[in-house]
Amino acid sequence: MPQGNWFRSDSGTRWFFDAGAPSLDFAYLGGFPDDAFGPASGLPGAGWDGLLLPADLGDWLSERYEGLGSAPTERELLDARSLRDAIARLALCAADGHTPDTRDVDLLNLYAATPDVPPSLAGGSRQAGAGRLRVGQAMSSVARDAVTLFSTVGFLGEADRRIKRCAADDCGLVFHDDSRAGSRRWCSMPKCGNRAKVRAHRARAAATRFPDN
Ligand SMILES: [Zn+2]
Repeated sequence: MPQGNWFRSDSGTRWFFDAGAPSLDFAYLGGFPDDAFGPASGLPGAGWDGLLLPADLGDWLSERYEGLGSAPTERELLDARSLRDAIARLALCAADGHTPDTRDVDLLNLYAATPDVPPSLAGGSRQAGAGRLRVGQAMSSVARDAVTLFSTVGFLGEADRRIKRCAADDCGLVFHDDSRAGSRRWCSMPKCGNRAKVRAHRARAAATRFPDN
């Protein structure tokens, strides 16, 4: 399954952000409040919504799940938006060490309790379930991913926290660090990582030229 989303920032730059988990990528379709991140987050501006139309949901899902049977309905879009917003709020709690709202946990569990996308082994003579996948099953898979994620990382600021904010102060995007060493610091190396390296390099160079004593 492809991970991550392409964004076009207000300045028109197109950039790729892998939030480290399918459920977090889903939350980034407009689920986070406008004030959740800094000005350099690179997300589209205020009022942007990646799930405005049923077709937006259909596009995102069909890039990730094969055999979607029919286009999402308005009702399914509304459900998807409420799931998206709940995952975003839970992700902020996990990143900032806050206790989550029980209503968000209940909502997530409700979606996760319905049938999800069944696993299938490639290489058979026919594609199992082709064209019969329901939107609700895909939503359940997204919800189950979030349940597994938040169950694993917890909410109250454990030392080895794997849900992090980008280390750039003016960005602060939330992601799941799924690197083996747990050493991911940036939302994206081209966007924030290199910027920070350049700043650090300049600071070192200035310190060499103008030593304190
Ligand atoms: Zn960043």
